[in-house]
Amino acid sequence: MLRDFLLKMARSALGQRRSMCSISNGGAKGREMAAFDFDLTIVDRDSDTSVGQLLPSTERTAELFDLIPKCGWVAFIQHALQLLHQKYSMDAVAVGRHIRSLPPVPGILRLLRQLAGHHSNMDLFIVSDSNCFFISEWLEAHGVDHLFAGIYTNPASIAADGRLIVSPYEEQNHCELCPVNLCKGRILDKVISMGNYKRVLYIGDGCNDLCAVQRLRANDIACIRRGYELHRKLTNAHHRPQLTCNHIFFWSNGHDLYEQLPK
Ligand SMILES: [Mg+2]
Ligand SMILES: [Zn+2]
Repeated sequence: MLRDFLLKMARSALGQRRSMCSISNGGAKGREMAAFDFDLTIVDRDSDTSVGQLLPSTERTAELFDLIPKCGWVAFIQHALQLLHQKYSMDAVAVGRHIRSLPPVPGILRLLRQLAGHHSNMDLFIVSDSNCFFISEWLEAHGVDHLFAGIYTNPASIAADGRLIVSPYEEQNHCELCPVNLCKGRILDKVISMGNYKRVLYIGDGCNDLCAVQRLRANDIACIRRGYELHRKLTNAHHRPQLTCNHIFFWSNGHDLYEQLPK
C-alpha cells in the first residue's frame, strides 16, 4: 500500500509537471480551463466530515468539531485520523476504502469526461481544501484521475505505522477570505497566468470558493451549486459580494450544468 501510495504521489508530481509542460508546449493562448472544487462539487459528500463520521458517536465531540472554525479543516482531519488509527486501528488503507465508496455528484463524471474530451480545448484542475490522498483515491476509483492537468490541495503522506498524515498546502496571511493553509484565489491566479487561459470556468459550492470566484475576470464563468453555502451568500440581497465576472450559472448536478455551458 505504501509503495502504491508513493507511486501515486510520484504520478501526481509528474502530473503537475505535465500540466506545466502541456501549457508551455501547447502555447496555451486560446485555451480554456475549468477549476473544480472537490467536496460537494465532484464528490457528493464532504470528504473530511465523512471520515470524521467513521468515529463512534462518543468520539464525535463538540471539541473535535470546534477545531474546524477555530483551527481549520487540516487540524480537524489530522485529529480525526489520529483517533481512528490509535483507537480503532483504521490505517490509510481503511480510510482510502471509505473515501472510494463516496458517491459522485449525479452527472459529474460524464461532465468531466465531456469537458476533457479528445477534441476539447480545455484543461481541468482541482483546487480543494481536502487532501491529495482522498482526492487521488476517489478519482482513481471512479476512473477519472487521468482527466486532470493539475490538483492543488493539502499534501498527504503515510507514516511507517500506516497512519495517514495530512499537512497544510501553505501558510498564508494575505487573504482573509481563505483559511491560513490554502488560498484558492492565489492558486487560481497562478494557474491562469501559467496557462494564459482566455476563459476560466470555476465550479464550486462553498464559501471557501468565494475568493477564487472573486478573482474571475469579466468573461469568465462562475458555476455555483444551487442550494449550497455560496449560492445562499451570492443571492443574499443584503450582503451580496461583488464579482467582476459577468456570467454566473447556478447548477444542481452535472447534467444541468453541462446544458448551461457554452458549446
Ligand atoms: Mg466544496
Ligand atoms: Zn484567498
